[in-house]
Amino acid sequence: MSINLETPKKIRPLIDQAHQVAMNMLRPISRKYDQAEHAYPVELDMLAAMIDGLADSGASEGAGATGVRRDEKAVEKGNKNGANLASVLSIMEMCWGDVGLTLTMPRQGLGNSAIASVANDEQLKRFEGTWAAMAITEPSFGSDSAAISTTAVKDGDEYILNGEKIFVTSGERADSVVVWATLDKSMGRAAIKSFVVTKGTPGMRVERLEHKLGIRASDTAVIIFDNCRVPAANLLGSPEIDTKQGFAGAMATFDNTRPLVAAMAVGCARASLDLTRDVLAQAGIEIDYDKPAYAQSAAAATFLQLEADWEAAYLLTLQSAWMADNREPNSMEASMAKAKAGRVGSDVTLRCIELAGTLGYSETDLLEKWGRDSKILDIFEGTQQIQQLIVARRVLNLSSAELK
Ligand SMILES: Cc1cc2nc3c(=O)[nH]c(=O)nc-3n(C[C@H](O)[C@H](O)[C@H](O)COP(=O)(O)OP(=O)(O)OC[C@H]3O[C@@H](n4cnc5c(N)ncnc54)[C@H](O)[C@@H]3O)c2cc1C
Repeated sequence: MSINLETPKKIRPLIDQAHQVAMNMLRPISRKYDQAEHAYPVELDMLAAMIDGLADSGASEGAGATGVRRDEKAVEKGNKNGANLASVLSIMEMCWGDVGLTLTMPRQGLGNSAIASVANDEQLKRFEGTWAAMAITEPSFGSDSAAISTTAVKDGDEYILNGEKIFVTSGERADSVVVWATLDKSMGRAAIKSFVVTKGTPGMRVERLEHKLGIRASDTAVIIFDNCRVPAANLLGSPEIDTKQGFAGAMATFDNTRPLVAAMAVGCARASLDLTRDVLAQAGIEIDYDKPAYAQSAAAATFLQLEADWEAAYLLTLQSAWMADNREPNSMEASMAKAKAGRVGSDVTLRCIELAGTLGYSETDLLEKWGRDSKILDIFEGTQQIQQLIVARRVLNLSSAELK
């Protein structure tokens, strides 16, 4: 199978739609919710209803983070452009509009990707339409997700959860939270399972919301689980502790979510490049694609270099999503895409501020905001360093114990 890098025809209408939404619905409220941190963007309810309508009509396969279930039939049918590719391409457009607002889009949480990745068919049906946040990080760890100390103890038909989760995106607004907890700490990684906990379940409470550098439209919560009883049927995937499989089940989620986060960075960086191109043009600096960079002004040459870097991030992101659609193992490519796009997202947005000068730094335009918003995309769902570590392990064929 080989990838065709042209945008697939059947996905183009979805991309156009997402671009229109980003331009006409997200951009106009972008600054408002950057300044009104913790205020719920009510405008998104209408938008979410529209996306649901499209999904019901089948017109928007993979309009958001919910469309990432791996299609078992894909391999039989051969080369496939499916929900993962559609998701990354539409998320790029939405994040061209606003990353924070995209992250807080109802029913499009990262927890939805976790459900899509590991839920069985019954669970998938039962949790259809829920808006799910994802809670992995705890006060004692971030990168080292094998160090989870939130516990899940079986008691009849229920599990009892105890622990504290921090920095949960959409933790307050979502309908449910996918919580990672250990069934038995002494059994290591294999005992880590994820549980869907519905909002309002006794014993679960949002303790506080964070104030942040960027993506301020998105709520980030601390959630406490204090003897929180969850139906046993809400454990996603198999309840068995399979030491051979280890962490693989839970980690499979990341193969689907990392391309999405990479796509967010690609979209945000594109927004900066587009606006900077206009700013440069107004200053009389045209970018000439037929002339070598060294024969153009320093600003134009810098711009060309940023675009080349952006394109590499874009292509790696497409590749990782396309592999997921075609059921090819994509852990390494998902990490490559996330590492490249996360880094490029920050580099491009900051260099664009530099190129635009005072206009870049001023709140009259959005360049400074994009510089702040993009940084998180190089941190959550695995930092730059962690992605590089994963890629190194895959390239060198070393286990996580052998290369830390
Ligand atoms: C706005 C925001 C939203 C978030 N949303 C969520 C969410 O929805 N759900 C969730 O579960 N978490 C979320 N997080 C948490 C996020 O995933 C963690 O912050 C991230 O995993 C890094 O963990 P840490 O902050 O504890 O840093 P640490 O793990 O302490 O790392 C600190 C630094 O050390 C580096 N480092 C760590 N280990 C290694 C190593 N082995 N080799 C080389 N360098 C290393 C890291 O790259 C980093 O630069 C969010 C965080 C933020 C800021």
